[in-house]
Amino acid sequence: ASSIDQRFTIVGATPEQQAAIDTLAKQFLLSDERLGEIIKEFRRRMEEGLATDGKVLKMIPSYVTRRPLGTETGSYFAIDLGGTNLRVLKVTLDGHGGVTTEHQKFPLTEEAKNRTLFDFVAQCVDTFLDERDLRPSGQQPAISMGLTFSYPVQQTSINSGTLVQWTKGLNVPGCVGRDVVRLLQDALLRLGLRVKIVALVNDTVGTLLSAAYSDPAAQMGIIFGTGTNAAYYENVTNIAKWKGPNPSSGEMVLNMEWGAFDSDDFAFLPFTPHDIKLDRKSINPRKQAYEKMISGMYLGEIARNVILWLVDQRMLLDGRSSEVLNAMWSIDTSYLSAAVTDTSPDLSETRQVIEKTMDICNSTHVDRQIFKAIAILVGERSARLSAVGVVATLTKRADLMNKPITVGIDGSMYENYPSFDTILSETASHFIPQSQFRNIKFTLAKDGSGVGAAITAMLAATDDE
Ligand code: BGC
Ligand code: MG
Repeated sequence: ASSIDQRFTIVGATPEQQAAIDTLAKQFLLSDERLGEIIKEFRRRMEEGLATDGKVLKMIPSYVTRRPLGTETGSYFAIDLGGTNLRVLKVTLDGHGGVTTEHQKFPLTEEAKNRTLFDFVAQCVDTFLDERDLRPSGQQPAISMGLTFSYPVQQTSINSGTLVQWTKGLNVPGCVGRDVVRLLQDALLRLGLRVKIVALVNDTVGTLLSAAYSDPAAQMGIIFGTGTNAAYYENVTNIAKWKGPNPSSGEMVLNMEWGAFDSDDFAFLPFTPHDIKLDRKSINPRKQAYEKMISGMYLGEIARNVILWLVDQRMLLDGRSSEVLNAMWSIDTSYLSAAVTDTSPDLSETRQVIEKTMDICNSTHVDRQIFKAIAILVGERSARLSAVGVVATLTKRADLMNKPITVGIDGSMYENYPSFDTILSETASHFIPQSQFRNIKFTLAKDGSGVGAAITAMLAATDDE
């Protein structure tokens, strides 16, 4: 059997099986030429979002106009609401670009995700303060906190903004169009907790600010996690739609909300029937098209759709499925990671995943090779598409490209998915001249989103603009 890429040659496959894998490889592998076209469109959409409100790339002004110097000291609090967990943190800045954090992590319950979110958050804040004997009594001043909110918010000031829509797994009624700080402040009040939210930031903005505290070259913050998005410093003169005062720094952090790229017409991203099926059954159909091809929440589900497509043609697992495999979202992205890194001769890790986790009573070596091939295809497409946003954004700031630039990145995909980081930077290097590319540093900004909210709270406290 022949295949377009050695990695997708399945030893022992029937011609029909190999042909099906070749079809998948054609759908999922993207040439540099194809990526170049998507980058061009991405740039066009960025310009559109800078000019006018309500476009597909929202390019939301964050009201963050300053940079930390790295010399600031003191302790600041933050709440980091992500896609999977909530964290409450106390961040101590050491004055030399370093931070120490004390934090507590609370997994979001299904009830919180679908109903009681803000009361849940307030309760966690209470627990954190109570366990550390920090809860202010009646006479003491309220505790200031920064809030990281990992969903699209149209910011109206440094500490207010209305929710545009829910993304990822959240679906709490009655929040879209309302000020999320207000909603949290009300929930805190119901508990009688004297906490004041002084800064509201997207997680990408937080990631950027935390990178900036230790590195003056930080220009961009990215999340490749449950969802995906980025923020970067833009010259205010380039933000045509900005009608507010001109900050003395001349720049502002923009929350791009890039996960929405191509959601309006599905015209540029490489949609396969498996992506369309996922989109249709998601809680936000026709939204977050780019995010659904890249981020950790979705890759397992894309793979599941591919697997079932093969199973239904009796080309995989002898046509058998299981209750687990039939259930939406049952394949975690970590199962794909396990297969991608499985180099044992009989693919024993992959066998574990198929037989134990997916509850299929038997798998052949061909089945396991196919499963691994699917995992590679889905993950590699994600990493290569991720480079699109990175290249489009960095080349937009051509004025910075001959100096050192640091990009702070956080999220489970970047941190854990095998080769994601290397494929991402390797792909980006094809689109940026070598003399400039070598000035770019991609760094893991671990837990940067929460630290950045604390830093923004610090900046807000000392703001004189
Ligand atoms: C949200 C963004 C967020 C990103 C990463 C997306 O679903 O729309 O606001 O930054 O996930 O967490
Ligand atoms: Mg997060």
